[in-house]
Amino acid sequence: MIVVLLGPPGCGKGTQGERLAAALNIPKISTGDVIRAAMKAGTPLGVEAKSFYDRGDLVPDALILDIVREALAAPEQARGAVLDGVVRTVPQAEGLAVALASLNRPLDLVLKFDIADDELVGRLSSRMVCEACQSPFMGRTPGELHAECPKNPKGRLVRRKDDEPDAIRNRLKVYHAQTAPVVEWYRANEGPLTSIDARGTVDEVEERVRAAAGLA
Ligand SMILES: [Zn+2]
Repeated sequence: MIVVLLGPPGCGKGTQGERLAAALNIPKISTGDVIRAAMKAGTPLGVEAKSFYDRGDLVPDALILDIVREALAAPEQARGAVLDGVVRTVPQAEGLAVALASLNRPLDLVLKFDIADDELVGRLSSRMVCEACQSPFMGRTPGELHAECPKNPKGRLVRRKDDEPDAIRNRLKVYHAQTAPVVEWYRANEGPLTSIDARGTVDEVEERVRAAAGLA
């Protein structure tokens, strides 16, 4: 079973992907993981990817898809994989379709996690770190910004730049701009796209994911 995960930052798709992969007894593959693995193994594609990293350049889509294709052709992925972060844009959706066709494997499920932007801004901006000991703290309220670190009275809680509300809204704007055409593309190509309501607890969302994947 090949499953693609689509969803905005903070929607919980990473955790849900891990749970689904475990339930299906298949690996979860993220783009970053397979690129790092290929570089570490020193495969020809990995060496090529490393040359981009070393120059500080982004690894091009075509190369990423070749690496994903190679990973999917490996015996560990014979029963399938949950793909996280592989499809974010229409060219990536097209590229994955070509790669899967060349491996003679169908795409079984595309899970799109839906949640309101305001809820994501609330969730992500509640993530703080101690500027002294770097400990992460989740579920903080705005009033706790610059509060004392529970582990170290000298430390203060701050947000990462990426977790500031304005930065989150920008990331969400990019996500929506990229994802709307991907959804249209899957609809136009009769892709197995299912929307998942990503509100609620991790367990509640997992129930919906399992139902969508045909697990009782
Ligand atoms: Zn601290």
